[in-house]
Amino acid sequence: MHIAPAPQLQLPNDQDASGRSFGAEETAALDAVLASGTLTSTKGAYVRFLERDVARLFGVRYAYACASGSAAVHTAIAALDLEPGDEVVTTPITDMGALTPILYQAAIPVFADVDPKTYNVTAASIERVLSERTKAIVVTHLFGNPAEMAEILALADARGIPVIEDAAQAFGATYCGKPAGTLGRIGCFSLQQGKHITCGEGGIVVTNDEALARRMYLFINKAWGYGDPNPDHYFLALNYRLSELQGAVAYAQLQKLDDHVAIRRERARQLTDALSGIEGIEPPVHSDRVEHSYWKYAIRVDPQIYPGGPHAFAKALKDANVSSVPRYIQKPAFMCEVFQARRTFGTSSFPFTLARPAALDYRMESFPGTAEALAHVLVLPINERYTYEHIVYVASAIADAAQRLRSET
Ligand SMILES: *Cc1c(COP(=O)(O)O)cnc(C)c1O
Repeated sequence: MHIAPAPQLQLPNDQDASGRSFGAEETAALDAVLASGTLTSTKGAYVRFLERDVARLFGVRYAYACASGSAAVHTAIAALDLEPGDEVVTTPITDMGALTPILYQAAIPVFADVDPKTYNVTAASIERVLSERTKAIVVTHLFGNPAEMAEILALADARGIPVIEDAAQAFGATYCGKPAGTLGRIGCFSLQQGKHITCGEGGIVVTNDEALARRMYLFINKAWGYGDPNPDHYFLALNYRLSELQGAVAYAQLQKLDDHVAIRRERARQLTDALSGIEGIEPPVHSDRVEHSYWKYAIRVDPQIYPGGPHAFAKALKDANVSSVPRYIQKPAFMCEVFQARRTFGTSSFPFTLARPAALDYRMESFPGTAEALAHVLVLPINERYTYEHIVYVASAIADAAQRLRSET
């Protein structure tokens, strides 16, 4: 019997117009910037508008735009003015742009294991790697699901260690009703092409701390004291500014953030409903304290039920034109060459040369949660252009793949 293949849907893709939402608002802001003739944020209006509205939206005193999410993390780390060899606890499941800034500031990234169900670091996993040299903790809210901040902040506050939130994937998420990125001392966001809102490349840092705000503003501006009576370049810093062209698009996008997040939540809820009852497939989990903002929709595939696990599942989904990413990252960050070979500045291996040996534990067996997380996770894209029809299609592709893979056993 011949069974006609089901018609294939083209899902919205966040790398092009199908999955992004640029319209008259972005065009009008861009036109205004071009008409003004001022493309630098040191003299223009739109980056200032963006910063003002981010501060308002998140209820924080200070927000500064910068060149990328990586620049945002770099700015946050630099603001702490660490000593070379100081340790910064972070996660092995993240974007490399959240890790290399630590090395550029001559500090040592120390990896904490993650919870295999949420993919986030926990107070317990952080506590295991703290030392007297720990001077900061970077908490990444992976896929838009805020980490358990109450316990993490209690641990950090008791020891006087500042917490930086990497909210690059968590625009619009909340923890105990507070926006992700506003719970720690500094929050970092990304405006890269594939994030909740975008201007191609860009980043934002937020804080309520006046001294840190001042240092972050300066770090983005070559540490030049604009407006001071006797300005100078006060310390080592870069030009990490966003241009007015990017600021215009980001400003228009920011006004759409609440809508984007609401759509992502609704579609995620629909997908979770549709997947219930498929054995060996676990939808994203989060605690009651959290409103997830679904940068991605990450499911867990049980390799006991589906031989080949997330990889086999991704292949089966590809046949239905549904793209997905098994493991999310091919390997934990500490398995990448920059860490394994300590390739930094020339042949020096600096700043690894300053580290305690225990801080450089890059053995897989020390990270059972990370290993389990990566062996199970399958990351499905989602964005503000997904309709209910798209969700129904994705859900039926997953159900079909599940049936096919199980019948092969
Ligand atoms: C995207 C991302 C970054 C880096 O942002 P860029 O804008 O790409 O430099 C940092 N951390 C996390 C968790 C990210 O997802």
